[in-house]
Amino acid sequence: MSPIYVDFDDVLSDTTSAFLKILKLEFGKSVNFEDIISFDLKVSFKLTESEYEHFFRRVHQAEVIMAFPPIEGAIGALEEWVKLGYQISIVTGRLTTAYEASLDWLAKHNAPYHSFTMVDKYSRENIDTKIAISMEKFSEMKFSLAVEDSATMALHLSQKMGIPVALMDRPWNRRVNLNHKINRYKSWSDLRKDFQNP
Ligand SMILES: [Mg+2]
Repeated sequence: MSPIYVDFDDVLSDTTSAFLKILKLEFGKSVNFEDIISFDLKVSFKLTESEYEHFFRRVHQAEVIMAFPPIEGAIGALEEWVKLGYQISIVTGRLTTAYEASLDWLAKHNAPYHSFTMVDKYSRENIDTKIAISMEKFSEMKFSLAVEDSATMALHLSQKMGIPVALMDRPWNRRVNLNHKINRYKSWSDLRKDFQNP
């Protein structure tokens, strides 16, 4: 039985809602969650290149990461899957500088998991390749199910890797044409109903 892939930001942790508070505090900008229709936050938040660089560094700081609340129902769902005998693989495209803080967040919220993998999902600069694996290497991995919010990753997982995907419904993934291996879910409680037995 292959493990279940669980993405971190906006799947386990309520990341983008927290970003909106930082955007207001640091740039005086108000953006509605429902208006974040691009996964590229520089576009969704209408930031210049230098503003975005500042913002991106800021949101990877440990105290910012540690303050993200868990998404409702996420930790409970992982606990249930572990009881059913599944292994949980947490797979994130966060910058490698966020490695320790990410593990600390999982410990703080008692999130059960068996592996934590950083993948260079978005070809970012400043990725420590001793910590993060490439998309090529990642693509050799096998999973029973993947829970994601990125439409790009959902398409890669389903089309290139043949893995069924539970796509957490977010404003930034609503415009993408999905395929038969991707199911959209409004919440973790909806997902749990379908995947008592993934
Ligand atoms: Mg995510």
